[in-house]
Amino acid sequence: MTGAVFNTDVAEQLGQAGSIPVRLRQTALLEVVGVGDPRRATPRADVVLADPEVRAAVDRLGKRIVKQGVDDVLDRCRRGEVDPSHVAQAVIDGLPAYATTLRAVLNATGVVVHTNLGRAPLSAAAVEALRVAAGATDVELDLVSGRRGRRGRATMAALQAAVPDAGGVHVVNNGAAALALVTCVLAAGKNVVIARGELVEIGDGFRIPELLESVGATLREVGTTNRVKLSDYAGAIDAETAFVLKVHPSNFRVEGFTAAVSVQQLSGLPVPVVVDIGSGLLAPHPRLPDEPSAGGVLRAGAGLVTASGDKLLGGPQCGLLLGERELVERLRRHPFARALRVDKLTLAALEATLTGPPTPVAVALASRPDELRKRAERIASELAVYGAVAVDSTAAVGGGGAPGVELASAAVSLPAELHDRLRTGSPAVVGYLHHGRLLLDLIALPPTADDVLIGLVRG
Ligand SMILES: *Cc1c(COP(=O)(O)O)cnc(C)c1O
Repeated sequence: MTGAVFNTDVAEQLGQAGSIPVRLRQTALLEVVGVGDPRRATPRADVVLADPEVRAAVDRLGKRIVKQGVDDVLDRCRRGEVDPSHVAQAVIDGLPAYATTLRAVLNATGVVVHTNLGRAPLSAAAVEALRVAAGATDVELDLVSGRRGRRGRATMAALQAAVPDAGGVHVVNNGAAALALVTCVLAAGKNVVIARGELVEIGDGFRIPELLESVGATLREVGTTNRVKLSDYAGAIDAETAFVLKVHPSNFRVEGFTAAVSVQQLSGLPVPVVVDIGSGLLAPHPRLPDEPSAGGVLRAGAGLVTASGDKLLGGPQCGLLLGERELVERLRRHPFARALRVDKLTLAALEATLTGPPTPVAVALASRPDELRKRAERIASELAVYGAVAVDSTAAVGGGGAPGVELASAAVSLPAELHDRLRTGSPAVVGYLHHGRLLLDLIALPPTADDVLIGLVRG
């Protein structure tokens, strides 16, 4: 074929002569091209990048992503896998929808707060708030007076209103930052008294005792792995003690011959009691009776409570600090606080989480097994040809708290072979394998996801 002159006839043979870029046609007329050789017919990258649709994609996604997409398609074109006249379209088709490689996932794992899936999904109200706050916003300006305003005042007011027992509130980057700030400000060069049974590893190698030591505190461990008494705490307190720390075992349970000391009992000691409740429940939850709440712990006499914002509270990643007004003020005004400061996006999403409609996490926790079962049955009947059946399942709160609590749920059971395709689809679906079947648990999915799921399985 080499030696054939590229002319209109040949272009028609290739199909869609009209869509072949002018530059390519000109180049082709000057050169002698091997028409049947895809390497020779492949257009140049700059020609593809000049295509109006590809240029629009550059405006939307940035040059780096689009250039990579063009290079990939041109490679495939040289291998004969893409028609040279369809290069621009293939580029457009292959580009991601957004300038992030993060993918939306349907959480069908049956774990409501799944750390590997970004913990709490935000409410629609919080997402709207993010959109508003994303541009220039009055986060530190009082628009009425035109003067500087207190950063995040509305969010702090919402948090204060949600936990009336807190004299003061402050928000930092995450739960670990909240604990680091408390320890750095109150206990650097001093001692923190903590029960041996509460030296918790949260996950991914994050150990609370190591965090405390990293900001200059010395741990005074009391009790044994399974038992600690009030007298153990009392005996460890001396002039160098900054506070007693109680850490909620949010991802494990110790059962059998155990004893712990309540916050109420500890509050009689001569030093402040700091409680890391982890999960971020602000008030007691009827379905999670053993999960401590910020309000409950403060009423029991804690001086300070620390918690995460993206676990059971259902908000953005952040760390909550609630407690005695003077203690919170000391934390807020300390230089280290600036290093842990949250951005306007977090403030906006947290405010909407606190004041808006129930979060997806709250909705999941309140879901009724019979309603989940009905949804599972409808999905299964739509997908009967794929071997789908509805089953009862057991869901969990997740790394966010309430270890050991089993939530009655329902799932769609499918052949396990489907998981790879579903997990790599768009949106991705992550379920779990159980007795050789793929289970898609519905507890963490809104009903609007059901038809999406059906469509994804059908492919
Ligand atoms: C999750 C958790 C933390 C850490 O919070 P992050 O927001 O992940 O930094 C600390 N303590 C407890 C008890 C937790 O459950």
